[in-house]
Amino acid sequence: MAQAAHRATGVLGIGSLALHVIAKIEYGRAAPAAVVPFADPHQRFLAGLGALALWLMVAAAVTGAARSAFVARRHPGRWRLLHGVAYLGWCSSLVHGLKAGQPESSPWVTAGYGACLLAVVVVPVWRAVRRAGAGTDDRFGVDWTLCDGHGLCAGMVPELIRIGPDGYPFVSTSPIPPYLAARAQAAARRCPTLALRVEGIRSGR
Ligand code: SF4
Repeated sequence: MAQAAHRATGVLGIGSLALHVIAKIEYGRAAPAAVVPFADPHQRFLAGLGALALWLMVAAAVTGAARSAFVARRHPGRWRLLHGVAYLGWCSSLVHGLKAGQPESSPWVTAGYGACLLAVVVVPVWRAVRRAGAGTDDRFGVDWTLCDGHGLCAGMVPELIRIGPDGYPFVSTSPIPPYLAARAQAAARRCPTLALRVEGIRSGR
């Protein structure tokens, strides 16, 4: 569910970005300045941040679509690094959106950016606090289309994962206790095929 939302909002973002660039070109912005970072002679830095964000978001989208190719070549770390440029793109687009528009932005637009910024700051803090506290609801999840029975996860978190008779991991569906949270996150990060995830599951508490 979270993956589907992630992908859907990613596609929506790229579509909105394409509309934004087309609209800018339609309303008179020279095409190279709209897509080449720091090529706009009128607002070299602020407009340039927008073009930079464009390419970083495209890089994130391409690596997202090519995830299985990275997995097949066993480069999950490289994939995470390249896909993570989306954060840089988001920061660039935030400054660009707030400062490169009209001299006086609408309060609603500013409030919208503020709400996004708040959400991006609050959500990771909230997740970290929830993980640190007792009774976390995080559990392991496995994408069985990607898992190749490598077994690394069972070695890292034997309390919750063991290798079954078929050579594939048997993953406990119990909540991950706080004392295993860091190791669980490390196992998910190091899974060579990106098959292992730590998922937050709401229990209604
Ligand atoms: S480390 Fe990843 S690929 Fe290997 S067994 Fe565990 S889930 Fe499967």
